[in-house]
Amino acid sequence: MPKVIFDSERCKGCGLCPTVCPKEIIKMSDRINSKGYHPAYVDDSDMEKCIGCAFCYEICPDAVIEVYKEEKTK
Ligand code: SF4
Ligand code: SF4
Repeated sequence: MPKVIFDSERCKGCGLCPTVCPKEIIKMSDRINSKGYHPAYVDDSDMEKCIGCAFCYEICPDAVIEVYKEEKTK
């Protein structure tokens, strides 16, 4: 299953990544990171909907997001 990891402390809360997620699983947190921004995140319960398209990774101006695609087993 693909998954995304957010380096929340680097996020500036620009809100771009939620707009490109075809699954609409990226949300902006109510909490505030050390830079004073509301960071983007994906709920654990929504992570299984992620298709690993990496649109979020591509649009993020601050390299906050890493996308891990399913590892193929031989
Ligand atoms: S990889 Fe695609 S589906 Fe997964 S969170 Fe990012 S934009 Fe959404
Ligand atoms: S695009 Fe990057 S900086 Fe902007 S809200 Fe998403 S993770 Fe944060």
